[in-house]
Amino acid sequence: MTKEQWGQLRKRLLKTVGQNNYTTWIEPIEFRSQKDGVAFFDVPTNFLGNYVSQNFADLILHELKSEVPDVRRLTFSVPANVQTQRPAPAPAEDTAAEAKPAANGVLNTAPLDQRFTFDSFVVGKPNELAHAAARRVAEGGPVTFNPLFLYGGVGLGKTHLMHAIAHELQQRKPELNVLYLSAEQFMYRFVQALRDRKMMDFKEIFRSVDVLMVDDVQFIAGKDSTQEEFFHTFNALVDQNKQIIISADRAPGEIKDLEDRVKSRLQCGLIVDLHPTDYELRLGILQSKVEAQRANYPGLVIKDGVLEFLAHRISTNVRVLEGALTRLFAFASLVGREIDMELTQNCLSDVLRASERKITVEEIQRKVSDHYNIRLSDMIGPKRLRSYARPRQVAMYLCKQLTSRSLPEIGRRFGGRDHTTVMHGVKRIEELKQNDGQIAEDLELLRRALEA
Ligand code: ADP
Ligand code: MG
Repeated sequence: MTKEQWGQLRKRLLKTVGQNNYTTWIEPIEFRSQKDGVAFFDVPTNFLGNYVSQNFADLILHELKSEVPDVRRLTFSVPANVQTQRPAPAPAEDTAAEAKPAANGVLNTAPLDQRFTFDSFVVGKPNELAHAAARRVAEGGPVTFNPLFLYGGVGLGKTHLMHAIAHELQQRKPELNVLYLSAEQFMYRFVQALRDRKMMDFKEIFRSVDVLMVDDVQFIAGKDSTQEEFFHTFNALVDQNKQIIISADRAPGEIKDLEDRVKSRLQCGLIVDLHPTDYELRLGILQSKVEAQRANYPGLVIKDGVLEFLAHRISTNVRVLEGALTRLFAFASLVGREIDMELTQNCLSDVLRASERKITVEEIQRKVSDHYNIRLSDMIGPKRLRSYARPRQVAMYLCKQLTSRSLPEIGRRFGGRDHTTVMHGVKRIEELKQNDGQIAEDLELLRRALEA
């Protein structure tokens, strides 16, 4: 491949990924060289490189292959001659010096949990991007992406990260008006202002913050007037180049009953998701929680293998993991025994039973073929008929969503298909899900059946 070829190919990606993603992620990528089936690209930062390889590599490879069929893998890295230590961006003196409106002190940030700091947040593969992005906004430098949209399942650390940002900003930039609240609190204040005829005050307060954080924004879905007000607040702040940080339990596009204009506004910035935890991360979190608890339980002994066992067996959210540990500590100190496997299994039998289930690719294939009334062998086999292909794509999509298998692994289990086929299938279902009520319903049903 040549640099020119890459230049043209890159432009073609614009259509697929949209202007915003293109400007943020694709445009900065430069082609460096190609060797033994690997294409090497230069990126300006490791952060960008990681993000691109997690989110766009499949797509880029797919496009690339149509022109340069012998490329099999892509590598994104910061060229050796670029310093990773960039000079700190100059602070925005003029805005910082401006007199703040008298809103200070009226802002009433919702109480922050003192334990939710960056120091206590354990970073692993599933959350490293979210963590890096949160760190970046917590520096309080010039706004580079707006909003920062963090999403992920329950108990994966969204609130923790948001509080950590707030703590950090309060320390680094005490002059900034930082407002953190849940979407529910936002609505509550809004309704109260309406009732007390204090809309002007309400608007002024919200328009005068420097950093606005709204947690669990899916809550305002379907609440029309709250959405409306949120939208205006949001726009006013973005226009003033104020940082906004939003969290939700799913991606903006997947929040039902959210107006399209709100959705598309939310999609304008950087969207990062917290993936379900993996074993290493869970073990890391357990170890750090044990350290944090030590002072409260002097003399407590945890036998080798117990934490590993818990990390292995409790694969749901971090909150459950923490709860298990707390219970274990309390129980052990009550009965004055050391924590070994036996005590762990006795004390946590219900939690362990509840999280026993892990969804497998085979299970998904079986459930989906039952649901669509086709034979398992036809789902996995080579037939291309729509009546097999669609269920197959549904199953691939569910495998991507509900298991931790990679695209190539999924492909292998579907009769040795290529990972691009899986990717295509997953995309197709994602599209259909938006426009085809039947598919959306099937997916919901199947998901529930599998998770039961
Ligand atoms: P969410 O808001 O995503 O539902 P939370 O931020 O409330 O989840 O996290 C649930 C619990 O798990 C909190 O006590 C939090 O401190 C803890 N937790 C989640 N992720 C991590 C992590 N990576 N490191 C340390 N603790 C974590
Ligand atoms: Mg939360």
